[in-house]
Amino acid sequence: MPIFEYRCRECGRQFECLILRSSGPPRCPACDSRDLEKLISLHAVSSEHTRKRARQSARAHASGIRREKQHEDNKQLQAHLADEH
Ligand SMILES: [Zn+2]
Repeated sequence: MPIFEYRCRECGRQFECLILRSSGPPRCPACDSRDLEKLISLHAVSSEHTRKRARQSARAHASGIRREKQHEDNKQLQAHLADEH
């Protein structure tokens, strides 16, 4: 759900507003003005940052598994070579 940040041009108040398709245009909670300036949503930025970090940690986790698997393969290979000699 998109949360936008607005600044009221009438009184300068900044507020966040959850925009629903059914609700009309937002109004200033202080002076009820509709003369609002839309600001960049901090929530959108921070959630994008969180997603990026989640992806990075998932990747790190996956490469950790891959290393573990390789290690396991090496052990099997060494055991195999040891058998032959
Ligand atoms: Zn206002």
